[in-house]
Amino acid sequence: MTDQEYLKTEYQKGTLIFHIQTKEDKLYCVECGSFHVIKKGFKERMFRTLPIGLKPVYLKARIQRLECKDCGLIRQERIRFAEEKKAIPVDWPAI
Ligand SMILES: [Zn+2]
Repeated sequence: MTDQEYLKTEYQKGTLIFHIQTKEDKLYCVECGSFHVIKKGFKERMFRTLPIGLKPVYLKARIQRLECKDCGLIRQERIRFAEEKKAIPVDWPAI
């Protein structure tokens, strides 16, 4: 997940939670592809991904809302790692 940066790691009841967000320079408009976007807040979503050893691993991802300065639309960023099935969305709390 080279587009993601790690913010911090949380350890909860034997479960690892990585807090991640998309790198600033990887954010773009899903509508027109422009990188000329500004952040308009975010929401957090939980994903489950491959365990490390026996430890379950979850990702707590900040999903940015982006306003495009070129086409003017406000869209949620694309969650590439979920589209590629590297992580699946889960409801929280799920552990
Ligand atoms: Zn756009």
